[in-house]
Amino acid sequence: MHYKNKKVTVFGMGISGIASANKLLELGARVTISEKRTAEECNAAVVKGLKEQGVVFEFGGHSMYSIAGRDFIVISPGIHLDIPVLKEARRHHILVISEVEFAFRFLHKPIIAVTGTNGKTTTSTLIFKMLKEAGKRVVVAGNIGTPLITVNDRNLDFIVAEISSYQLEAINFFRPWISVLLNITPDHMDRHHNMHEYAKTKARIFLNQGKTDYVIFNAKDQLVLELVESVVAKKIPFDTKDIFFDPAEIIIKGKHNIENIMAAAYAAQLCGMSRDDIKRVLREFPGIPHRIEFIRSVRGVSFYNDSKATNPDSTIKALQALASNNKKPNIILILGGLDKGVSLSSLVLEIKGSVKTVVLIGTAAVRFNEELIQSGFKNVRFAQNMLDAVETSVGLAQEGDQVLLSPACSSFDMFSGFEERGEVFRSAALSLHE
Ligand code: ADP
Repeated sequence: MHYKNKKVTVFGMGISGIASANKLLELGARVTISEKRTAEECNAAVVKGLKEQGVVFEFGGHSMYSIAGRDFIVISPGIHLDIPVLKEARRHHILVISEVEFAFRFLHKPIIAVTGTNGKTTTSTLIFKMLKEAGKRVVVAGNIGTPLITVNDRNLDFIVAEISSYQLEAINFFRPWISVLLNITPDHMDRHHNMHEYAKTKARIFLNQGKTDYVIFNAKDQLVLELVESVVAKKIPFDTKDIFFDPAEIIIKGKHNIENIMAAAYAAQLCGMSRDDIKRVLREFPGIPHRIEFIRSVRGVSFYNDSKATNPDSTIKALQALASNNKKPNIILILGGLDKGVSLSSLVLEIKGSVKTVVLIGTAAVRFNEELIQSGFKNVRFAQNMLDAVETSVGLAQEGDQVLLSPACSSFDMFSGFEERGEVFRSAALSLHE
């Protein structure tokens, strides 16, 4: 396809939108950026730089002007495909694609695409490290910081791509050589109307795969099993019972991480790696910050930062990873944030088994408190902010206890993102006196 003088609108001016706009400029297209925020709320230097290159802006919302006469539209992950203006665009047969789909047009090397509700970053990072260890030329991109559209694969052997369900909503031809589906548990119910719709979106990762491609999937996840049934690619199930390494030799905790490792290892093996090389990487992999990350121990109380837990299942996995078998519950759980409307029933069960006290924060606190009280769990405290939550937890903790930030919510009611939330928790824990 020729892009010179093509009229294209990019929806959303986040990392992905800016990268798409830059790529389009490089190709000679005429670019509009349509952004929900006002001009004042956006980075002035970035806006200025793009304007100087001829980008036209629409701020403060997405209007019909930004789609009229366009050849196609590229949407950022934050943009819902069902907003009226995009429905209208499609009614006028204007192609609407995600940044990942746009990027796919320029990629020629095998793609290993990882999706699932939880574990995407951990698994894609592991695959990347394993392939690096084997001397392959590889990058990891996608949802993980570097947008896929910025990848030039001329000098690469493989591309590892972390793909969210949002990115999969608007693909047509995106075709990974290996797709990895880790799990599907409730999340983003504010955006996907129900689990069925959410699961169907995740399954789009297989949409264009053929007989020469592979699907690595969780053999113990019922929803995943249903989705892979009709897949034509070669199927490789992973199951923690097939573990081929000694869990005592690895640093990252929890059964869920064994699942992530199994998935990553199978992908690495398809790329030609031996189990011995894989084991070497596993022994050295310290995990990623904000995922059940050990911060420190003060007066016998351990502090763990699991700020990336933005849905109930990830919090359940953290509780399972830290639960002390056959001891009294010893976890003080800092929970809450921006409520995504997901059911808490499984999480509440887990809390009753392993948590001593829940310290609630954020706008979700009221609903979470009601659900906990209804289920008969009464050890609940409220905190005004993260510092207060850490202080409250310290006040409650006895020697041998564990303070875990694993909020099961997104962070945007109080923080710029999960990273800031985790950093505030970390510095509060680090500033405690011995
Ligand atoms: P993602 O990129 O999908 O958000 P991460 O690897 O960043 O996944 O982990 C997000 C959260 O989910 C963390 O709290 C982590 O401890 C938890 N987690 C990681 N892997 C899994 C898994 N396989 N199943 C459930 N929870 C997981």
